Amino acid sequence: MKILDNEKQCVGCGLCAWVCDKNAITMRAAEGGFLYPQIDAEKCVSCQKCRSFCPVVKERKKVEPQECYALNDNRDERRRKSASGGAATLFFEETIGRGGMVCGCRLDENLQAVHDTADSIESIDLFRDSKYVQSDMSAAWGKISSSLSNGKELLVCGTPCQMAAVNSRFGKNDNLTTVDFVCSGVPDPQIFEIYKADIEKESGKKIKEFYFRDKTNGWKKSNIKVVFTDGTQQIITRKDSYYFKLFGGNLYFRECCYNCRFKKFNTYADITVGDYWGIEKIHPELDDDSGCSLVIVNTDKGKALADSVKGRCKVASTPLDFAVQTHPKLEKSINRAKYRDLFFHIYKGDEKSLKKAMKLCMGGSVVRKIKRVLYSKALSAIGKI
Ligand SMILES: Cc1cc2nc3c(=O)[nH]c(=O)nc-3n(C[C@H](O)[C@H](O)[C@H](O)COP(=O)(O)OP(=O)(O)OC[C@H]3O[C@@H](n4cnc5c(N)ncnc54)[C@H](O)[C@@H]3O)c2cc1C
Repeated sequence: MKILDNEKQCVGCGLCAWVCDKNAITMRAAEGGFLYPQIDAEKCVSCQKCRSFCPVVKERKKVEPQECYALNDNRDERRRKSASGGAATLFFEETIGRGGMVCGCRLDENLQAVHDTADSIESIDLFRDSKYVQSDMSAAWGKISSSLSNGKELLVCGTPCQMAAVNSRFGKNDNLTTVDFVCSGVPDPQIFEIYKADIEKESGKKIKEFYFRDKTNGWKKSNIKVVFTDGTQQIITRKDSYYFKLFGGNLYFRECCYNCRFKKFNTYADITVGDYWGIEKIHPELDDDSGCSLVIVNTDKGKALADSVKGRCKVASTPLDFAVQTHPKLEKSINRAKYRDLFFHIYKGDEKSLKKAMKLCMGGSVVRKIKRVLYSKALSAIGKI
């Protein structure tokens, strides 16, 4: 039994494993640290339940956005802790204020990205910030389900594919609201592990907190910030971070991200948020370089939630066309790096091979460029990539 004809389309949400009554599906890392379902043929009864809920198999849904605007949380200090203008956190606070629950992505005690639920204002601080790594939703499915079974309002925020999965299983529940974001794609969790270990090795210290979008030098030049267990901090600029060089080179994203099915407003989310890049051109009064959110309201339910926080933020209405123009990722997937196959062929899950793969596949001298073209051709000729 196969869930998808082409396994490369799998988004790794783990819903198939959670809905399987026979516990026949386990999510296992493959191609770096990306999770893919593995089916135990002895337990599988071919009931097709996994397939029926899979967000990739389900028919896509195109929304007609109702509203589009720029948003800045009024509390500047708090906004600086969010990735953009703090829209997602405002929606979380509103839901908790009404006695509901929220579900978002946080870094756990091992600094690995996971989806988790919360019902207190204090705990939602952990969800702030964009974690540029694929989050593991496995442990969240049961919590989402029990929260909705208890009749609680629940707001879930995640990537468009994750929100398609949440809606596939729970979309009929009136208490569920979902927020997704303009998404470039999700990087490999295993490479994030290597990157953290590398920082620890170089500094000789243990990392306690990791921030991908520290705004010490402003929102537009946000950096990585790590806080060590001894209380000291290190800021790593994007240009000095090989983790972000890989991001810019489109090398380490999940395979399905290069051909994302949830672009062009094929979204299941009630609201879509993003970084409002280009804000200085259209609403300069909202551009203080502390972060500005793009908010696109997709449904009536989304509008009700978005309207309820408007008293706590500055908003400026904006044409959807402008947002699409400044956010090509609303419409188009990222380009698949030409040498991605070569990269994952050389990279074997450890620091040494990662650095070797980066050296060969990114930039470099003319000699190196020739070397990678020849290497790539040779591997493809013998069917290795
Ligand atoms: C991998 C990734 C790629 C992105 N690419 C773009 C882009 O190309 N263009 C663009 O405009 N915006 C992009 N964003 C969105 C942007 O960076 C902000 O996350 C978004 O604008 C929300 O900011 P905020 O201030 O409203 O949220 P905050 O208050 O900072 O809250 C962040 C929210 O994002 C969720 N989140 C964080 N990391 C993850 C993750 N790894 N997986 C699932 N959910 C997560 C949290 O649950 C939280 O609710 C991306 C985000 C991520 C995580």
